[in-house]
Amino acid sequence: EAGIIPELGEVLSWADSIRKLGVRANADVPQDAEMALKFGAEGIGLLRIERMFRKPERLELLRKVILAENSEERIKYLKPLAEMIKQDFKEMFAIMDNKPVIVRLIDPPLHEFLPKPEEIIREIYELRMKNAPEDVIKEKEWLYKRVSVLQEANPMLGHRGVRVGVTYPEFYYYLSTAILEAAAELIKEGKNPIVEIMIPQVSDVNEIKYVKQKAILPALQDVEKRYGVKLNIKIGTMVETVRACLTMDEIAKEVDFISFGTNDLTQATFSFSRDDAENKFLPFYLQEKILPANPFETLDIKGVGKLIELAVKMARENNPKIEIGICGEHGGDPASIMFLHKVGLDYVSASPFRVPVARLAAAQAALKSQKK
Ligand code: PEP
Ligand code: MG
Repeated sequence: EAGIIPELGEVLSWADSIRKLGVRANADVPQDAEMALKFGAEGIGLLRIERMFRKPERLELLRKVILAENSEERIKYLKPLAEMIKQDFKEMFAIMDNKPVIVRLIDPPLHEFLPKPEEIIREIYELRMKNAPEDVIKEKEWLYKRVSVLQEANPMLGHRGVRVGVTYPEFYYYLSTAILEAAAELIKEGKNPIVEIMIPQVSDVNEIKYVKQKAILPALQDVEKRYGVKLNIKIGTMVETVRACLTMDEIAKEVDFISFGTNDLTQATFSFSRDDAENKFLPFYLQEKILPANPFETLDIKGVGKLIELAVKMARENNPKIEIGICGEHGGDPASIMFLHKVGLDYVSASPFRVPVARLAAAQAALKSQKK
């Protein structure tokens, strides 16, 4: 296998003949997709769309979208932004031709893309010291007011993920349009993109119904009509809230696939912050054996695992065709893979460099369960 020493390649191909779990990779840029393929990934389990907005020109447009005061203004900036990211999707889908690529609609709290109010205050102060023109200062003052209005007490639990798709359907409409146009163009070029659109942070089936109706399906219809092609896309959801697990009987009926976001699901289940746990109290918890392992690395089977088991059971009962995966970090962890095999997931998705380990661990899980 390219990118892997031959002996290891052979072991991995034995593993592939044994394992039941599919192995995909999380990748946002072409280099990662290429690496994932070299390591044997069978698709992309998570492409985080927000990572496409890092280039300055795009970030500037995204900021304008976020700061816009009405939907008309948002659309003005969403159109050129969608056009820019469409090119990236084309590149990614072409690299992954004939293999599934799950693109997740925008997820993070919007303030992550904006300057901080205190930074703007400092800029205004500096502009005043330099006797800058009044209109320049006025614009910064407007920015300060707007950014202040958008501040949230608890952004991680605030206006983010599907909640943005519900309140600003045009946002999800144009992102979906970019994804679908890329697929349509590749089909016209004779390629076979397999595209799956995923909705983040869902906690109720009605959120899925709403964004499908208001954004994703209209985008699909428009693109199919304009390009004269049929796009067989799948629409699915992240499962990363406790409520999504508990109401899976309803959710499963509304989607083609689900993917466990165990990073957020772990955070939600323990009710501790994934950003703070590791460098604050978690090392002490491990030392004192309050927890057996870091739950952000090794899936917490007692709690998070129970939610997953319940959700998988309800999903299969209510939608026999549903495709079930995981795209949280645990998808690349051998001990967690053992559990995920047992509960009957279809695939795991991990960082590209963890794909070989995941292939081996999936085979080991299959062998172990045969022995019993
Ligand atoms: C997750 O929550 O597990 C996930 C994959 O999404 P993100 O890490 O982007 O929140
Ligand atoms: Mg998440």
